[in-house]
Parts: sequence; C-alpha cells; structure tokens
Amino acid sequence: MNRMLTEFDCPSCKHSLVRRKNRYGYFWGCRNYPDCQMILPDEQGKPGKRRQKAQSTGEACPECGQGERVERTIRKGQRRGQTFIGCSRFPACTYTEFV
Ligand SMILES: [Zn+2]
Ligand SMILES: [Zn+2]
Repeated sequence: MNRMLTEFDCPSCKHSLVRRKNRYGYFWGCRNYPDCQMILPDEQGKPGKRRQKAQSTGEACPECGQGERVERTIRKGQRRGQTFIGCSRFPACTYTEFV
C-alpha cells in the first residue's frame, strides 16, 4: 500500500489534487497550480467539500494588494464561530484581521 498513489481529481480541471501543509494545517491544492488555483480543505486525509463562498467586503487586501478582504468564520478550535477578515487569496496570502 502506497499512500503517495492516492489520487483525487481536481473539481476544476483534469489534474489531480495534492495534499499540502501550511502553518494552519493541511489542505489540498491542484497539481496544476498556479494555473489552477483550486483549494480544498483537508478532511481526515481526504479533500473536503469546497467552502462556501466567503463574504466579500469589496476592499483590497492590505498585505498582498491583489486579493480581496473577505469575511470568514472559524470552524474549528477554541475560537470556533468567531468572525475574522481574511484574504481571498488564502492560503497564498495569510492576511487575517480579527474583528
Ligand atoms: Zn485543477
Ligand atoms: Zn492578501
């Protein structure tokens, strides 16, 4: 059994997804990145469902200048349910601001 052979299809293109890790934990990105920027959350080692579209604020991200500030809600951990502002380019940009 080779875990590296586990393949999941990207829902956006015909490439496969690869599991990656950043300082917030695991997520799934497309092998075709950066041409395809599909990102899926990790759910017990498998790609999870696509997150609901984040609430747009219509303001540019002050950190990268390319993304947009979007309102998100924390789903896990001690701060679950708390709202924060993040960048639409997450996880490429990790800008966050608690409100
Ligand atoms: Zn893709
Ligand atoms: Zn940003």
